[in-house]
Amino acid sequence: MSPFERPDRCCPKCNHHRYLFRARRTVEEGKFTETKYRCRACSHEWWERIPAPPKKADDAA
Ligand SMILES: [Zn+2]
Repeated sequence: MSPFERPDRCCPKCNHHRYLFRARRTVEEGKFTETKYRCRACSHEWWERIPAPPKKADDAA
């Protein structure tokens, strides 16, 4: 089982539980991480956005 496979995640189009990791990017100045997946059953691709882990706020005023 790869670290990218989670039992609670599935294709939003066909609900298949097998998918491929495609890409990862950071958006909104590092506040979120988006991960792209591709369904192995129907080839649907989608992005999933999660909050990025908090950085050390060394320069917080
Ligand atoms: Zn699918």
